[in-house]
Amino acid sequence: MWTNWSGGRECRPRATDRPLDEAGVMAAVARAADRGLRIRPVGAGHSDSPLAVTDDVHLDCSALTGIVSVGTDRVRIRAGATLASLHTALAEKDLALDVVPDSDALTIAGAIGTGTHGSGAAVGSLSAQVTGVRLVDGLAAVRRFEGADLDALRTGLGALGVLTEVELRVVPAALLHVHEEPGTPSELLEDGGVLDRHRWAEVELHVPSGEAIARWGDVIEPGSEPPPPRRDPVRAAAAGSAEALGRMVSWLAPGVWRSPRWGGSATGPAHRLLVDPRPQRAEFTEWALPREALDAAVRELSAATAARGLELKAPVLVRVGAAESGWLHPAFGRTTGWIAVRAPRGTDSGPLFDLVGTVLTAAGGRPHWAGRHDWTAAEVDQAYPRAAEFRRMRDQLDPQRRFASTHLDTVLGP
Ligand SMILES: Cc1cc2nc3c(=O)[nH]c(=O)nc-3n(C[C@H](O)[C@H](O)[C@H](O)COP(=O)(O)OP(=O)(O)OC[C@H]3O[C@@H](n4cnc5c(N)ncnc54)[C@H](O)[C@@H]3O)c2cc1C
Repeated sequence: MWTNWSGGRECRPRATDRPLDEAGVMAAVARAADRGLRIRPVGAGHSDSPLAVTDDVHLDCSALTGIVSVGTDRVRIRAGATLASLHTALAEKDLALDVVPDSDALTIAGAIGTGTHGSGAAVGSLSAQVTGVRLVDGLAAVRRFEGADLDALRTGLGALGVLTEVELRVVPAALLHVHEEPGTPSELLEDGGVLDRHRWAEVELHVPSGEAIARWGDVIEPGSEPPPPRRDPVRAAAAGSAEALGRMVSWLAPGVWRSPRWGGSATGPAHRLLVDPRPQRAEFTEWALPREALDAAVRELSAATAARGLELKAPVLVRVGAAESGWLHPAFGRTTGWIAVRAPRGTDSGPLFDLVGTVLTAAGGRPHWAGRHDWTAAEVDQAYPRAAEFRRMRDQLDPQRRFASTHLDTVLGP
């Protein structure tokens, strides 16, 4: 039995293959074809949608690890490696990723497969950093991609083949100075406000109480001194307890939910500051909206949940990102504001997530592929101008639908 990270998805694959290298991936795909079975690549299983679910063959990519090469502005890494291992390897060379998602347990291919993003108005997702890939297609042949064709693979949903190696753009390592401060939702979500002015920024909202906290960070230029820490002792103590309990503090005790994360401010490498050290096993749905629609969408969400008696207990996380070129990336073609709604594992999140999906679809949102959503191919066609090209690429790379699944049939069609 396979269970995803949140515990909300499970399946009983007929077989699980764990290839050690690209030749092993080719053999696994060929073996599945010989047996007339479908095969689904799986990374760290952090997606909450059933993208990695299959009754046929699971292709566990966790042994495809290790750096292949590192240059001054590129790294080539095997696709099943975790982000944590990449952060560490790059730091040893005074390099870094330009974008830091808040989990480092994700695999490179899994994160790219769903368009995993960080939060910065001028910064693209991890998928946007990809400059080349090697992949095993549905006929068990190795293909190499670079240039414009990569736009299909930037958010491939595991539907186009098994990524074995990925080349990513990297930047010189730098220190980030981060800061956090409470405010009202409308001032923190204002277009052109805190979310848009910094290298990295996010806002957490506790919708029932109307409380909000903004966190932001900027790179400290080489040679300049980091600003002195602004540690308020009360906040520092609260931050200590928040760190100890992970973000659970903010879920369980609404009165103290604004517990600061860094005690006001901090300085360090982005991957040390921005990765959540103890993420809670929650179910989530996340939506990518036109940036300018964020404030109104949050108000609408607040009104709709209150009207239905559905409380948004966990803080709503709001992030931003640059327009993407990936054909199926939820931020395709527009500067994006992301709204993530989480529900502790074991709660009945269905009615809440359905309502969130209805409200945010009406606001022009597209679902994060890794979150819960009920979109079908009809909605995908309407929301993604390059969906037909993605399907053509799928026809070329997987003509026999070796990588298909019930969920992919729903969102992409057969
Ligand atoms: C605690 C937590 C924090 C998160 N933080 C963020 C965040 O900051 N930003 C964000 O955008 N998302 C975030 N997510 C969502 C997460 O980024 C996605 O779920 C991501 O896809 C998970 O990567 P994974 O390695 O677990 O892949 P999986 O969930 O295992 O797989 C995801 C997709 O990738 C495909 N895939 C896996 N390996 C391969 C391969 N070798 N070749 C081709 N396809 C492959 C799978 O078939 C599937 O379609 C978070 C999720 C959690 C649980």
